[in-house]
Amino acid sequence: ATATTCSHWTEQMDTDRILDENQLRDADLTHAYRRHVQGGFVRSGASLFMWISCWVAYQVGIIRFDNFIGASFPVLLLILYNPPTLWVLKRIRNRELFRYFSFLIHLLEIIGYTAIIHFLGGIEAIYMLPVYAALIIYIGVVAPRRLPFIIAGFCILCFNLMVILEHYGLLRSYKLHPGFELPWPNQVMIMLVNISLLFVIAFIASYTASTLKKNRNRLHRQNEELRLALQKASESDRLKSEFLANMSHELRTPLNAVIGFSELLSYHYPDRLDKEQNDYVQSIHVSGKHLLAIINNLLDLSKVEAGRIRMEPTEVPLRTLLKESLAMFSEKTLSRRIRLSADLAECPETIRADELRLRQIVYNLLSNAVKFTPDGGAVALSARRLVRIHGEWFTQTGQAISVPIHGGQEPAEGTVMQHIAVADTGIGLKKEDQERIFRPFVQADGSTSRRYEGTGLGLALTKRFAELHGGYVGVESEGENRGCTFHCLIPA
Ligand code: ADP
Repeated sequence: ATATTCSHWTEQMDTDRILDENQLRDADLTHAYRRHVQGGFVRSGASLFMWISCWVAYQVGIIRFDNFIGASFPVLLLILYNPPTLWVLKRIRNRELFRYFSFLIHLLEIIGYTAIIHFLGGIEAIYMLPVYAALIIYIGVVAPRRLPFIIAGFCILCFNLMVILEHYGLLRSYKLHPGFELPWPNQVMIMLVNISLLFVIAFIASYTASTLKKNRNRLHRQNEELRLALQKASESDRLKSEFLANMSHELRTPLNAVIGFSELLSYHYPDRLDKEQNDYVQSIHVSGKHLLAIINNLLDLSKVEAGRIRMEPTEVPLRTLLKESLAMFSEKTLSRRIRLSADLAECPETIRADELRLRQIVYNLLSNAVKFTPDGGAVALSARRLVRIHGEWFTQTGQAISVPIHGGQEPAEGTVMQHIAVADTGIGLKKEDQERIFRPFVQADGSTSRRYEGTGLGLALTKRFAELHGGYVGVESEGENRGCTFHCLIPA
């Protein structure tokens, strides 16, 4: 049974391969056929143009009637032979046959052009040579490398044959000036120049086309490589985020036990522990909570990066939220003599946003301001609605205020945004750090990270949360030790 299945599979695969190859060949031929159709139009257009030029030349007396009538025949042939040849070409499914038939079409074309030259005076119509050149260049672009040389050979053959036959009287001459005979050595000279010129054109056409083809293939390959690299990168990014999310989850469970039991020990059995033991237990408790905050931030960030966080907008009581957030820092700021103020006069009562994320944004900005402001400093929170007019932000009372924002698209005219700003008189930020700090794990500098605890995740999250709302964040600072103001804009 297995052998039967195997042979069945092999047969199936063979059939699939043949089908694939057939499809590929059909696509190739269809493509080549389309080119011939285009070529047919170009050929007909060019012939018509030549015929009109002949007619004008006849009307103004440059050529005679027999020249004009004679040239009209090949023009007619060059136009009329397109439909039947294309009809046949469309039905050919064999590559070799297709190639030979295409070649035949080009031969007829060369014969047609040579006939036009012949009826317009033979060697006297040498000015018509660019028509051969145009054909060779066209072939260079669409066909394999050696075909332009073969086509050039046939052009030379037809032209020279015509000149030689006319010279020896084997072909009737349609000279415009019968009395004037160009000396034979000069005619030979013209033929030789013609040979070298058309071959040079064939070489240039073939070389340029092959360089183009090579570049196109290289570009194609590079695009493919880039696509694969991007696929790999996003896959590993997804795996990283998934790993972080899983790890954070696994870490939180034991950590909750550490926090819970240290709290239990320190608050419920203080009499069973001596002072030193109590200090240790409290230290375990504080560090555990700190670690939990880091893990929570990491988890949030990895969820955002994996696109797993969806905003859940509700009607949020903004004023209350801001006041409650401030209250969380009142004890800390009091003990460090930091003046905490709020300007909520123009703040609307409610806003449509994801309450949890908005709380995190405000909390992060306030906790940074308090953390990075020395004792005796000041932290001010303000909130108001802004509207974008002529590329500037205006308050409801018509006052223009500057809000620096990092990244994202320029907000459209007339956009209304809720602005939340936290200003402090703290350690400030150097110009070069003002954009960096919104990236994950980035802290302004080494010494800062040593002096102040933190992970560099708060602002990265704040930025992502604001952006998920369709908003922006930004910071401005006069420089080190000159305080800074963090801005957040959320669609109102
Ligand atoms: P963390 O505070 O945990 O280090 P954040 O992402 O919140 O991480 O902040 C990143 C860095 O930005 C901080 O380490 C600090 O260097 C700088 N920073 C943030 N807020 C302020 C501020 N109010 N004043 C001065 N520097 C700040």
